Order: sequence, then C-alpha cells, then structure tokens
Amino acid sequence: MTQSIISLNSGSSSIKFALFDCDAAGPNFVAGGKIERIGNDPHMRIKHADGRVLAERTWPNHYRHRDLLADLFDWGLKRLEQRTVVGIGHRVVHGGTRFVKPQRVDDNLLNVLDTFCPLAPLHQPHNLIAIRSIAELCPDLLQVACFDTAFHHDRPALSTRFAIPRHFHDQGIRKYGFHGLSYEYITQRLIELDPITARGRVIVAHLGNGASLCGVLNGQSVDTSMGFTALDGLMMGTRCGAIDPGVVLHFQTQLGMSVAEVEDLLYRQSGLLGVSGVSSDMRALSESQIPAADEAIEMFAWRAARECGGLMASLGGLDGFVFTAGIGENHSDVRARICRRLAWTGLRLDDTANAQNASVISAPDSAVVVRVIPTDEERMIALHTIAVMGQDYDGQGDLD
Ligand code: ADP
Repeated sequence: MTQSIISLNSGSSSIKFALFDCDAAGPNFVAGGKIERIGNDPHMRIKHADGRVLAERTWPNHYRHRDLLADLFDWGLKRLEQRTVVGIGHRVVHGGTRFVKPQRVDDNLLNVLDTFCPLAPLHQPHNLIAIRSIAELCPDLLQVACFDTAFHHDRPALSTRFAIPRHFHDQGIRKYGFHGLSYEYITQRLIELDPITARGRVIVAHLGNGASLCGVLNGQSVDTSMGFTALDGLMMGTRCGAIDPGVVLHFQTQLGMSVAEVEDLLYRQSGLLGVSGVSSDMRALSESQIPAADEAIEMFAWRAARECGGLMASLGGLDGFVFTAGIGENHSDVRARICRRLAWTGLRLDDTANAQNASVISAPDSAVVVRVIPTDEERMIALHTIAVMGQDYDGQGDLD
C-alpha cells in the first residue's frame, strides 16, 4: 500500500485539493483539482498529474463545504487503488502570534483558531469548516494546519508594528502578513533555480484574487504588504487594500453604514470590481472595452509598483523580482505595466519572453532578474504535513 497525503485549501467559494504519494524523495503529485462556485451550482474538476481529466461534476446550489467534501471523499476513497490516506494538510490563513509552525489539529487548536476568524473573515471560517468536516467524516485521520502567517513571523519587529499605543501590539494588533505558504514555496524554488538571486534582495508578487507582495532577504521575509488582516496592501479582486482609516470612520459616522455593511463593502465590493464596475477578474477586465476597466488594471499596476518602492526601502535595494499566482503567472500585460513603473530601478523586461510567460522575463542588461514561478501551496502543505507526521510518529512512522 502506498501512503498518501491530501492537501486542502478551503475558501469561501472554492476548495482546492491535491493528492500526493509520500515517496522517499518527497511528496509526489498524483491528482488534484478544484470545487468552484460554492453557493452557485458548485462544479468540480479533477485532473491526473499527466493532465487527463479524471472527473467532472456539478452539484445543486444547496451543497456547501461539508456536503461537497463528503462527496469528494466518497468518490475519491473508492478510487484510490493501492493507496491509504495517512494525513490531510490544510491551509489555515491565520495562526496569530502563537502558531508559527504547522500544527497537528486537535480540539484545543481549533478553539484558538476560531478566535482568529474576525481577522480573516473571507478565509479562516472556511478553512476551519473543512477541518471540522474531515474530523466528522474520518475521525481517526491525522490533520495538520499550515499557517499563511507563519512565514512572516520572524521579520524585523519594526515592520510588525502599527503606530498606535504599545499595549495594542501586545494584544496582537499588529501586522502579520499572509500568503506565507506561497512565499515559502517560491523562496525554496528560487534557491533551486537561481541560488545567487535567492541570496539577495527579492520581491515576490503573489497576484491572484487575493494579492500581496513580500520583500525577501536571503530567503527570509523582511516586510510584506498585508497587515493585521488580508485586507491591507494591494488593490485586489474585490478587496480595497490599504485605505485611509478615516474613510472607514466616515462610512460609519457620516453615512450611517453598519459594521457588516462596511465589511462587505471593503472585502467584497471594492478592488478591481469596485473601481471597474465590471468584474473582479483580471481576464474579464482585459477583454472589456469600458474605460473604467482599463483604469482599474492601471490602478492595480500602479498600486503594486508603489508598494514595491516601500519594500525596496525595507530591503535596501532590489536584485530579483518574482511574479506568481493567477495574474502573476499568466497576465503578461499586468506584469509589463508593473515593470514599466519600476524601470527607474534599472529593471528591463524582455517583451518576447514576457509575452510567452517564460521563466525568466527580464532582458540580459536588466539590473533586476525578473522571473515567473508558478506557485504550489498544495505541495508546501504536503511537505509540512509529512514533516509533522514524522514528528508525531516519533520515528516509528512508516512513510516510505
Ligand atoms: P486565488 O487568489 O483565488 O487563488 P488565482 O491565483 O486563481 O486566485 O488568480 C485569479 C486571477 O488570475 C483572476 O483575476 C484571473 O483573471 C487571473 N488569471 C487566471 N488565469 C489567467 C490567464 N490565463 N490569463 C490572465 N489572467 C489569468
């Protein structure tokens, strides 16, 4: 029997999953996919590592995370020939100051993680629903929580503070930073692909529906654009990013908006969707003829480049730049718009390489090496899960 691990990344409207065999050389990807449009005719597609579509399915609207995971397991476990699932790793967005390494899940951990839900309302509750659903479906299965905040934990104290009275910081009101599993994976890949650049001053741009930047120095996070919550920093698909806190006060005191209305506005109605009035999806904006759609794309690029200036001050310069996630990996026009605004750093794009989504997209005479590296948070989760299992089994685990 081959021992296998499942990685789960459960969000509000989608669940990404991947199955890995625990080979001696590390996790070996077997199959994976995504359940999308939860709440609106959920649809699932599973692909084999060789690209074959293994299954496609649509469920009725009322199927939510627990029902979908139950069906997925029912389907999957029947087809796992010669495999035993020995552990499930989960992306958990917020670990607070307390959880700075992946943790084996138990009731105590879940109770503490519940208290972080207000800090990541779009993600944390859905991460935890997946863990609780699996605990109900397979009570004996080992589950591991892997935190997006963890990669940023050891960065300089200055970049974790808000300029508010000190006691709030001590209560945990501080900048955490997110997308840590993606940054950790990219940092490891960069060491393999380009060890010299990896030892230098690098900005990683994780540009998906959620978007953030991380300044990485010699493999360590030194500064990042997201803060206390995943609302801060860059403009995103539906999130506003950094905003004058006076605007939030104005919404409440002058426009009479409730807390729930302001939360909905800033998390779900803003960003690309709010500015364009067209869509939160970058591809849809590129295809639109409406001027506000182009303005939203340009604003996204300008905000990203502007934030890079801040990170460069934290890093003391720039040697490498990595684009990743849906927009970063695929959208050459957005990459070009951001890079044009960084030309003052000596960064020069190779337009042909950029148009081809090549792995190196900077010109030979560029002062900054620019790369496109596909992220793989699911693999990072699998690696952490295997590591935690190794500790749990205290050397007696039979993982190979
Ligand atoms: P999430 O944060 O939900 O994981 P993704 O990393 O999947 O998001 O990124 C979604 C964004 O990436 C969307 O704005 C989408 O338009 C964009 N995107 C995805 N694929 C492509 C592509 N082939 N070309 C251009 N943009 C793309």
